[in-house]
Amino acid sequence: MTTPFGLSTVLGYPRIGPHRELKHAVESYWAGRIDADALQETAAGLRAEVWRSLRDAGLDAVPSNTFSFYDQVLDTTVLIDAVPDRFRHLGLSDLDTYFAMARGTAREPALELTKWFDTNYHYLVPEVGPDTVFTARPDKAVREYAEAKALGVATRPVLVGPATYLLLSKATGDTPEGFRPFDRLDDLVAVYADILGTLADAGVAWVQLDEPAYTADRTSDEIAALRAAYRRLGSVEHRPRLFVASYFGDLGDALPALLGTPVEAVGIDLVAGPANLKRLASAGPLRSKTIVAGLVDGRNIWRTDLRAATATGAVLTGLADHVAVSTSCSLLHVPVDLAAEPDLDDDLRARLAFARQKVDEVVALGRALRDGVGVLPPPPPAAPAAWRNDAVRARLDALRPEHVRRGPYAERAAKQQARLGLPPLPTTTIGSFPQTQELRQARAAHRAGRLDDAGYAERMRAEVAHVIAVQERLGLDVLVHGEPERNDMVQYFGEQLAGFAATVNGWVQSYGSRCVRPPIIYGDVTRTGPMTVAWSTYAQSLTNRPVKGMLTGPVTILAWSFVRIDQPLVDTANQVALALRDEARDLEGAGIRVIQVDEPALRETLPLRRADQRTYLDWAVGAFRLATSGVADATQIHTHLCYSEFGEVLPAIDALDADVTSIEASRSKMEILDDLRTTGYQRGVGPGVYDIHSPRVPEQAEVTDALRRAVAAVPADRLWVNPDCGLKTRGYAEIEQALTRLVAAAAEVRSTL
Ligand code: GLN
Ligand code: ZN
Repeated sequence: MTTPFGLSTVLGYPRIGPHRELKHAVESYWAGRIDADALQETAAGLRAEVWRSLRDAGLDAVPSNTFSFYDQVLDTTVLIDAVPDRFRHLGLSDLDTYFAMARGTAREPALELTKWFDTNYHYLVPEVGPDTVFTARPDKAVREYAEAKALGVATRPVLVGPATYLLLSKATGDTPEGFRPFDRLDDLVAVYADILGTLADAGVAWVQLDEPAYTADRTSDEIAALRAAYRRLGSVEHRPRLFVASYFGDLGDALPALLGTPVEAVGIDLVAGPANLKRLASAGPLRSKTIVAGLVDGRNIWRTDLRAATATGAVLTGLADHVAVSTSCSLLHVPVDLAAEPDLDDDLRARLAFARQKVDEVVALGRALRDGVGVLPPPPPAAPAAWRNDAVRARLDALRPEHVRRGPYAERAAKQQARLGLPPLPTTTIGSFPQTQELRQARAAHRAGRLDDAGYAERMRAEVAHVIAVQERLGLDVLVHGEPERNDMVQYFGEQLAGFAATVNGWVQSYGSRCVRPPIIYGDVTRTGPMTVAWSTYAQSLTNRPVKGMLTGPVTILAWSFVRIDQPLVDTANQVALALRDEARDLEGAGIRVIQVDEPALRETLPLRRADQRTYLDWAVGAFRLATSGVADATQIHTHLCYSEFGEVLPAIDALDADVTSIEASRSKMEILDDLRTTGYQRGVGPGVYDIHSPRVPEQAEVTDALRRAVAAVPADRLWVNPDCGLKTRGYAEIEQALTRLVAAAAEVRSTL
């Protein structure tokens, strides 16, 4: 069989549906409102809609198996039957076993959830031990292929590749010292060989194997293992043609390694990894290989300059026998359809492309490669002058190093302590309090116009008063207002800053059924007025204890938005930082003594390759300092970082120069303490002692124990006592119990100091 690859494809497509139909169906199924058949029917409808629309758009290579009820890595766990025994033994249907792995059951905790490379998508971490038995179970991929075939679309099933799967896995069970899941690659490749045979039997002509793990730093052994794996898969006699896709950056030495195997097609990301082009050129003429060129950005929402992309495509045509055009990665990371946005400004709309529009771009590029650029639409127009704000630019130009420097930490700490009078081991929380059903209902009613602005504000103020009263009763030292007014910690600021646009239907899957609607930063960012001051001062008016002002930091705002690409990220970050700087000053002026600037995404957007990390950390740290250095030394700046593996970024955390940093440490068994001790970290720190990601309430003795260990690593006058993240997903009953124990544990350890 020698079906050519075709000229145009996408590496994947959103599966949630244009109006989050999948989310609603899956959640209804979980709640018992619909049965499995109804869920399957909705899913089949969504898949059919995607295949038809991709084909009708003129795409000549259409992917399948990009649908998932929860996550494609979890699907791969099922594909190779690496389901952990603790879920097998539940005696549930296949579908319910699948959801049990994703969500946990009353007895079994779910698989761990973690970020997919440097994106805000989360996958379920596979558990692989030395004895995990892999078995080929390609039922889903085969079924979906047949389903599409029946609709007249011959598709290319997409699978996570074996090397990436194992590199993303964590070791489980009784693992011998030094065991890595990756050690099992040969066994897994044998199973993939079986899978290829089954797919070929089903009539599959091409299969896509995703190996994005190779756009991160890899050892030469890992690259050699990749080469060996694809030599072996390439030598399988009865198989579809192999397309190995990469994305999120430069493949480095893995590119020549892959080109040296019998795989028929290799995909490169030319948006995030332009260096791939040079690497390809130096690989020599590529006979009998198809290069799939990721020329359309799969992670951002701007229209592609099709003429520039065609020029790149033309260079490739000189290098390889066959060139196809694709998106740089799966379109999973962008909203479905610009046509579903009724309210966007025309100037902005003219510059945007969501998933459906990106398919048109890919098709146009494929045709241009064949027929020449004559057929292409002109490039997107330059940004209108109205998007520019010379005042903010002038302010940034005028900034000098002394503007982003605060006094020495020790002096600040003394002034803050004189003002705050806190006990050793002060207790606090991270910001949000439970988002109750009533709060959500009030928000929905407000959105639907059933509750007016005044009524809504009244409802939120009542909630703030309640949250303050609860904290006073529990005896916490530094209080929060609870963030009831915030739908989302980035969207909330995006809605108030100039230069940001919000979408109505621009949902992107974050994990499972959870979707987010990232705002679009399209122009210069400015603050049009105070954004949080009224809430914080109201909360402060109800208590004598300090209430923390609560802001989202510039790095996180950028990470969870679609960001303009017509200027360096650092410039956009600094514009956002200036707005936050003004907000912090206003909070301070209104009597707020402690301000927390959250940066949960700081670690997430760390570049995959070490060589790129320095530049990132420089601008990230610079923007944070710009946001936080406008206040007096006596104002205490906190930050919160939502990640447990901090060792490598600890110097950057130090450089943030926050007075207090709270860290998500409870799940990693406070390994961070070792890092803090060995690096001699000098500032205030609150390693989380209550894991809010689990409904389990810790015993007081556990908290006391954690604190004792922490006191051994960090001097008590710099150690804070707090949960490891916000409380918004929890219920009042559990958090009151947990916080009671947390306060009591702090008192207990304090009394022994
Ligand atoms: N202040 C935020 C909250 O408590 C922080 C959330 C986060 O770390 N993701 O909800
Ligand atoms: Zn957090």
